[in-house]
Amino acid sequence: MSTPDGITSFAELDLPATLQKALVDVGYETPSAIQSRIIPHMLEGVDVLGQAQTGTGKTAAFTLPMLHKLTMSRSSTNRFGVFGIRALVLTPTRELAAQVEESVRDYGKYLKLDSTVIFGGVGMNPQINKVKRGVDILVATPGRLLDLQQQGFVDLSGVQMLVLDEADRMLDMGFIHDV
Ligand code: AMP
Repeated sequence: MSTPDGITSFAELDLPATLQKALVDVGYETPSAIQSRIIPHMLEGVDVLGQAQTGTGKTAAFTLPMLHKLTMSRSSTNRFGVFGIRALVLTPTRELAAQVEESVRDYGKYLKLDSTVIFGGVGMNPQINKVKRGVDILVATPGRLLDLQQQGFVDLSGVQMLVLDEADRMLDMGFIHDV
């Protein structure tokens, strides 16, 4: 993958050793173009709009800085008495939601962060139980998330970071009001 702006390593992107070690495990050697461009801005905490084709590494582009930032701040207790959701990733489909959450777990394997995924078309109870136990990162499709939130099972009041993955597709699929 090409690396613009002279960035040739993940170390140059100021990612901590725990994340770099996980990247070695998955076999990534150099940041892709979207990763080099987005990660520094996300680490600064500014809002970013990224556009890249499928297969160019956009999941890691938002997940790596998200994980790093989460390790630098503390979880607060939510209204259920557990540590609350601090990062929310919305995706248009359940397949993408599951893939993104798997990446979150792969890249975050050496960090003390918990994640889960919720989407429609399957039973709600296992999802509710996981969220109730406390998660730092929630990956979700908009419909099921709203449903669980409206039923009072999900507290989004502590969310500090929001990612709209494939935002254009979410709007095409009619999620504009949900989003
Ligand atoms: P994505 O565009 O996020 O769906 O990623 C496409 C594929 O590229 C996935 O299989 C990733 O595991 C892989 N990938 C992401 N970033 C890198 C990287 N820096 N080096 C090598 N492979 C990568």
